[in-house]
Amino acid sequence: MDSRDRRLGLGRAISRRDFLNGVSVAIGASLLPACAKTGDPVAEGLSAYYPPAETGMRGSHPGSFEVAHAAVQGQHWAAETTDEHYDLVVVGAGISGLSAAYIYRRDVDPNARILILDNHDDFGGHAKRNEFTLDGRTFIGYGGTMFMEAPKTYPVTAKQVIRELGIDTDRHGDFYHEGLFASHGVGRVSFFDKETFGKDFLASGEHGLSGSIDGAPLSVSAKAELERLFADEKDYLAGMTMAERRAVLESHSWRDYLERFAGLGEEVLAFVQKWPHGVWAIGADALPAWVAWNEGYPGFAGMDLGQDDENGGEEDGGSFYFPDGNASIARLLVRKLVPTVAPGSSIEDIVTARFDYSRLDQPENLTLIRLSSTVIGLRHQDGKLDADVDVTYVSGDKGRTVTAKKVVWAGYHAMLPHICPDVAEDQVAALSSSVRAPLVYTNVLIRNWRSLVRLGLRRAYCPGSFFQTVMFTHPVSMGDYRFSRSPDEPVVLHLQHIPLAPGLPAPEQFQAGRRALFVTPFATFERNVRDQLGRMLGPGGFDPARDIAGITVNRWPHGYAYSVDVQSGDVAWWPEYWRHERRPWFDARQRVGNIVFAGTDASSNAMTESAIEEAHRAVHSLM
Ligand SMILES: Cc1cc2nc3c(=O)[nH]c(=O)nc-3n(C[C@H](O)[C@H](O)[C@H](O)COP(=O)(O)OP(=O)(O)OC[C@H]3O[C@@H](n4cnc5c(N)ncnc54)[C@H](O)[C@@H]3O)c2cc1C
Repeated sequence: MDSRDRRLGLGRAISRRDFLNGVSVAIGASLLPACAKTGDPVAEGLSAYYPPAETGMRGSHPGSFEVAHAAVQGQHWAAETTDEHYDLVVVGAGISGLSAAYIYRRDVDPNARILILDNHDDFGGHAKRNEFTLDGRTFIGYGGTMFMEAPKTYPVTAKQVIRELGIDTDRHGDFYHEGLFASHGVGRVSFFDKETFGKDFLASGEHGLSGSIDGAPLSVSAKAELERLFADEKDYLAGMTMAERRAVLESHSWRDYLERFAGLGEEVLAFVQKWPHGVWAIGADALPAWVAWNEGYPGFAGMDLGQDDENGGEEDGGSFYFPDGNASIARLLVRKLVPTVAPGSSIEDIVTARFDYSRLDQPENLTLIRLSSTVIGLRHQDGKLDADVDVTYVSGDKGRTVTAKKVVWAGYHAMLPHICPDVAEDQVAALSSSVRAPLVYTNVLIRNWRSLVRLGLRRAYCPGSFFQTVMFTHPVSMGDYRFSRSPDEPVVLHLQHIPLAPGLPAPEQFQAGRRALFVTPFATFERNVRDQLGRMLGPGGFDPARDIAGITVNRWPHGYAYSVDVQSGDVAWWPEYWRHERRPWFDARQRVGNIVFAGTDASSNAMTESAIEEAHRAVHSLM
């Protein structure tokens, strides 16, 4: 450790740091986190087992993925045959798998015996809750699925589940501190880093616009271009017919479009490259121009192409936020399925309810949720598609087989063909056409937010930095949970990093990003957190060594679900505007005997409403 490391605070004790990284952790080895070591959280009466409070490397944490990777590469386990038999086994305890169990119980059989298996040490999948404790107070952040976007536009089946969970999305205003940040004068800024732009510079004002970029490390012409782009008054395709315009948008990436038709130079193209990262997990180089247009990105003034995003704007009724993102939806579902797991009955009390994880997997439960259990085999008995299904999973380093009348697969489509011999060849191809975009959501607990107020920073776009987004977590108080309302109080910041390889086709970028994540240790994330926050917030008085109290990195190598047309390489960014006749995700989700498919791969739409809707469709296809 050199003096710079010490200045950044790399040696400091922070909220229990987990030094494990993602590099080749041996299965079943002592490196597995304490809670995953036994493979069975209830086995040793682990009353202290409470995964949301784990910090360090979370998301796809060490110990969660190694078995699946080995299974896909052909490793076999000698599995013990058990006498456990279930009406339904659900693979995946994300929102979709949990919804499938809930809907099965509601619509098929209230007394069904259900087993839910998940490879992580916590339930919720992407809907992951992160907690920090500082000076006796708990601070909550979202490690993945962040909010319910436009729940008024959800499909009826998803709306019904949300309503039955007690979530009244009209009550958004009861919990969300609408004016909090404005009252402290913090807003949007852009951070130019010296490695990319030649000098560290924080430009205040919306997107670093107008007067705010006077001092930015950009050439005079680039500043003028940036202002022109965001003023968004120029029709760059003037004189073209509607069909010609559409053809241009469909055949160019947003970056190529801006370069060729809007005449933007390299500096501004570098500025916008990561603009779509948070929403699409891809950069401007590979995001189709028509998606950028539909999303309302700048550069498309005067383009009425007769197609609009009807879900945008105020008419969608707004969004709904829990302090832990949609992890509260997962927790509400789990409390319905296993009522003894936590007290309470409302959305207010779910936020601070302490879950007793030892209740999840008890033989007397009607629904059992078994964590740290990776399914590595699904096979209809005697090869007969109307027979029961043998479900083999690995927990710790032990294989076990249970049997099920029906199975809902709410895991990743692309894995299934590797572990289920019952899938026909053409369906294997369709299942394999599902790709996943990698993302990393990092939560950083800081001791106060005075520096952010001094700098006017609520949300920063950082086009050249490791984390392209740095922002406050959503200001939500609910039940007994109080969001930090004074700059003198600690607060959780949300930082995003999307690993990609610009220049390649999107699916190859996702693959490259996944590989990069696999070998990026926690220490690299920590160094970047400290370095970037120190440089951005330092002028406001922030000292990373003193002010950072906790870091949790949520690594999602298998993040947003997208389907790909293998022939053209087209990605189904927006399934409702898919232009090919065949929808690979429709072909992929066809029932295989007693196995049906839920999860967002089944809709090529990484959204909570799809996770629930696909669960509903899958369960009802069994009826
Ligand atoms: C970082 C991030 C942010 C997001 N933000 C939002 C948001 O704000 N709003 C929104 O609507 N959507 C958001 N999404 C999309 C999100 O994917 C969905 O909303 C939803 O949470 C997906 O639920 P799911 O159950 O389909 O999948 P998942 O949450 O991925 O759950 C599937 C589970 O199955 C497990 N599994 C897979 N294979 C196996 C196996 N073989 N054995 C055992 N278990 C297995 C997985 O590990 C996982 O735990 C976000 C996604 C990511 C990655």
